[in-house]
Amino acid sequence: MRVLGLETSCDETGIALYDSELGLLSHRIYTQIAVHAEYGGVVPELASRDHVRKAMPLIREVMAEAGLTLADLDGVAFTRGPGLVGALLVGACLGRSLAWALGIPAVGVHHMEGHLLAPMLEENAPEFPFIALLVSGGHTQLVQVEGIGQYTLLGESLDDAAGEAFDKAAKMMGLPYPGGPELSRLADSGNAKRFRFPRPMTDRPGLDFSFSGLKTFTRTTILDCAEDGVLCDTDKADISAGFQDAVVETLAIKCRRAMKQTGIYRLIIAGGVGANRSLRARLQETAAELGGEVYYPRPELCTDNGAMIAYAGTQRLLAGECSDLAVTAVPRWPMTELKPLDTKHG
Ligand code: ATP
Ligand code: MG
Ligand code: FE
Repeated sequence: MRVLGLETSCDETGIALYDSELGLLSHRIYTQIAVHAEYGGVVPELASRDHVRKAMPLIREVMAEAGLTLADLDGVAFTRGPGLVGALLVGACLGRSLAWALGIPAVGVHHMEGHLLAPMLEENAPEFPFIALLVSGGHTQLVQVEGIGQYTLLGESLDDAAGEAFDKAAKMMGLPYPGGPELSRLADSGNAKRFRFPRPMTDRPGLDFSFSGLKTFTRTTILDCAEDGVLCDTDKADISAGFQDAVVETLAIKCRRAMKQTGIYRLIIAGGVGANRSLRARLQETAAELGGEVYYPRPELCTDNGAMIAYAGTQRLLAGECSDLAVTAVPRWPMTELKPLDTKHG
């Protein structure tokens, strides 16, 4: 089955073509960073308009690269939520009407299920069950995964998501937008031991997270260091390293706890922060200490992309799922509401 995947939930237009026999045939990611940079954050209306502009040309590119035409498609998958409603509606309208015109089924995919299944696109794909650490711009969750659609939430952030904390800390230091990847780059040359950031909520039981305290600690550290309101490059690098180390260690402590609590020693990392090299290395160590294994997608499939939507959509279409003709977007949509995949069809 060949499925076109459309991701338009936020500020990336991701288009991909997935074949259930051959794997990922082609994919394109267009990021709107330049559109939103001058505002220091995503402007929803501009995001929707840019998806409208980019989606069709990218679909043509993806089809051409695979040497196929729209007539070769067996299904269309689009992100149905969660995300920005206008941005979601662009993908939903396009995906739903394309499928209708071609006489093939369409399916609306949960964005976080897409992230969660992205490691399946790699050669060394994990088997079920596993523990998923979802760390993105809007989510920080530990999920016990028994199969597709069988998700138990073990813990989540009570305030900021990990990626959001990275972005906000970076912004406070005046780093270029979007700050997360930039902060992580600076951290490589910094001294993580100079400032001792807290490890929030690690001294009490449970698997929830809280990252807003790290933001406050970042702010006071900046105020202590800055001369005439200006931070020198060494200060920026050291703050970045201390901040990153705190986030990474906190996530690793909770992942270790989740593995021990469930007895499942297979861990996957997904979502934008999963591209962070320090986090990957630390979780690899953590899993190895427990005799477990860690899996993650290549960095470009950690952040938003169409491939993960095409993959998740293919699994649901193969199981006989199909969205009706109404064009719908679900901006808020807990992943635990998803139904288990009916594998009788698959
Ligand atoms: P969600 O998936 O929760 O709806 P989103 O789609 O905006 O949110 P993603 O695209 O999965 O999030 O990830 C983007 C986030 O990942 C941003 O907050 C960004 O700063 C962060 N990020 C990307 N690369 C890195 C990195 N190397 N280190 C730390 N953070 C990173
Ligand atoms: Mg994004
Ligand atoms: Fe995302």
